[in-house]
Amino acid sequence: MMEVGPQIRAVEQLIGILDSVAGDAKRPVALHEPEFAGREWEYVKDCLDSGWVSSVGSYVDGFERQLAEITGARYAVAVVNGTAALHVALRVCGVQPGDEVLVPTLTFVATANAVTHCGAVPHFVDSEERSLGVCVPTLGRHLREIGERTAQGLRNRKSGRRIAAIVPMHVFGHACDMVELVELAAEWGLPIVEDAAEALGSYLHGRALGTWGRVGVLSFNGNKLVTTGGGGAVLTDSAELARRLKHLTTTAKLPHRWEFVHDEVAYNYRLPNLNAALGCAQLERLPDLLERKRRLAAAYFDAARGNDDLAVIAEPAGCRSNYWLNAVRLTKCDEPTRDAALKMVNDAGFQCRPLWRPMHRLAMYAECPRATLPVAEQIAASVINVPSSAALAPRLHDDLI
Ligand SMILES: *Cc1c(COP(=O)(O)O)cnc(C)c1O
Repeated sequence: MMEVGPQIRAVEQLIGILDSVAGDAKRPVALHEPEFAGREWEYVKDCLDSGWVSSVGSYVDGFERQLAEITGARYAVAVVNGTAALHVALRVCGVQPGDEVLVPTLTFVATANAVTHCGAVPHFVDSEERSLGVCVPTLGRHLREIGERTAQGLRNRKSGRRIAAIVPMHVFGHACDMVELVELAAEWGLPIVEDAAEALGSYLHGRALGTWGRVGVLSFNGNKLVTTGGGGAVLTDSAELARRLKHLTTTAKLPHRWEFVHDEVAYNYRLPNLNAALGCAQLERLPDLLERKRRLAAAYFDAARGNDDLAVIAEPAGCRSNYWLNAVRLTKCDEPTRDAALKMVNDAGFQCRPLWRPMHRLAMYAECPRATLPVAEQIAASVINVPSSAALAPRLHDDLI
């Protein structure tokens, strides 16, 4: 029998916290549920009534305008999902077949898959405890060890391949240290493709996540803060890149009243108008969603206060997080005890889940180049997500009146 004393205590504390925050909710309590409390029905019905459901229609333009306004990006290009958004974002930043792209091992598989879709190879880097995102000082040391400056750019001395870009990912809406990363990337001449799929409505030093890199990517999948059913977007301040993104995602069709002429092999990655209509209604309610997400996070912090066997993950300094998913770190936890804890809380009716299995431990990515990844391993073994729907936010006095 394994020595699990402190872990058992942590699980008991965890159940206590879940009971105090979400105990009144109907079981099972979902990890994250979408909410359609605005004009979703009206806008979708308008699409059906007008017949503009697919590749033409005004909701796509409106959705892109709203996204640009919210994030402060000059341009937003709506696409069919976040993975497709990452794929074209990498392409317009110059990622070529045979290149390597720096990616945190602690991410959703889409980040690495998008690199592979470019014919490139993900090169996994470590994360840091505080933000759960890319650890910039460790990355700097790694690049000094393996990096070589050549006329074609940065080269991995060990593999011989060009390193073409870096993709930081803002885990659960919490910002990576973008100030330091922008500096490091500039030093090595690397474009930043920001995976802000989980971070719509998050800010670092007052600047929206997704607008720190050359391009930034958002997702509107069903489990994200704001959903279009399925959808994504690429943000950029560059008119040239925005034009290029639009072209690549719309089969590279040249504008003409009736002729079909295409000037390169491209993608059908355009977001249908029907999905954009849903998105327009969702975005109208973003401020309210964000306010309740932060209130829910505050409730978790309150409930966890004084417990020393676990800690709720907090937004890093300078970051105003959207708290898309709340996360709890079980201190001194290994994978078997984490799994025992997950079984207990799920049995108790609270949908909780571990982080993603680190990419370098997935069969298809096991042979990829990588840095040492001790912190990512530790985070993956000890952090779990807890129910985070905005509807779970404790009511304010005003709500009760
Ligand atoms: C959701 C997500 C994506 C994109 O996912 P899609 O389902 O394709 O929209 C990419 N990266 C991360 C980190 C995500 O969480």
